[in-house]
Amino acid sequence: MITTGSRIFASFNEKDGQGLLASLCSDLLSEQKAIWPKLREGYLAQETARMREIFCPGFTLKVQWNPQRIVSSAASVDPTSIQARPCFLCRENLPDVQQAILYREEYIVLCNPAPIFRQHYTVAHIQHRQQSIEPALPAFLTLMQDFSPRFMVFYNGPRSGASAPDHLHFQAAPADAMPVEGDIHADGKRRLLKRTEGVDLFKAVGLGRAILVLQGAERECVAAVLLKIIAAMRTIFQTPDEPMLNLLGSYRENRWHIMMFPRRRHRPSVYDLNGDAQILISPGSVDMGGLFITPVEKDFQAVDAALVQNIFQDVSVDEEMVERIVDAL
Ligand SMILES: [Zn+2]
Repeated sequence: MITTGSRIFASFNEKDGQGLLASLCSDLLSEQKAIWPKLREGYLAQETARMREIFCPGFTLKVQWNPQRIVSSAASVDPTSIQARPCFLCRENLPDVQQAILYREEYIVLCNPAPIFRQHYTVAHIQHRQQSIEPALPAFLTLMQDFSPRFMVFYNGPRSGASAPDHLHFQAAPADAMPVEGDIHADGKRRLLKRTEGVDLFKAVGLGRAILVLQGAERECVAAVLLKIIAAMRTIFQTPDEPMLNLLGSYRENRWHIMMFPRRRHRPSVYDLNGDAQILISPGSVDMGGLFITPVEKDFQAVDAALVQNIFQDVSVDEEMVERIVDAL
């Protein structure tokens, strides 16, 4: 339980508070911009960041050149480096000026000081604990509901793009922020695979990367199917750890809509090349959602349809693996 009064801008505990959380966040952002120069600079950089649209066969991909993201794109996320740095999501390490919304007594909502979107929030657990989706699924689903309809919520696995793999957190972005949201609803872009426990399970077709889509109206059922998918992946990949994945989700028309990106590696092979050949793109949910973030201008210019395809193929599981996961349910 948080007892410090000064850092808490507001508390959110509503039983049915749709719309309220989003407006509290907007208020927090305005207040924080007024008193926190680094945040103001971060938003100025985001607002003036250059964007390109890449024409990929069958889907949309955007690239954002955002130099301030170098910290996260080039972050060392191996256990030794993580242990050696102070955790930037623990309350005692936050800048004095930073304030938070206390969310359901368990999480704090923070303004991300290096935003990718016109509003970008980080939702961190109040305790320093491992990034791990299974125990946090109920909170993840409730967050989508509370943030609806204006925001979506996303999760990066500890080995799939989370820059704080040691501190449980989610992020929230405007609902229209990621191109995949539009693509997945276009004709012929998804195929129904299974209807189980009141949840429809689809896979994306022709979007260049593996995506499983879950839709359902009952929280417990959506959570149960997600847990089964994760368990199936753990068996198939023969790992005791959380399988590599990203999740993007929202709640609308009384249903959860969740996209899962099952992954086979974190950084693509072009990330490991030397000198000018290196492309500093380190995909998390946002990149898998069709918005590549690159801090380096040369890389921003270099992205084309072939490179996009190459990166998606490198980091996503293949078609056969998707079928094995679904068969195992
Ligand atoms: Zn921490």
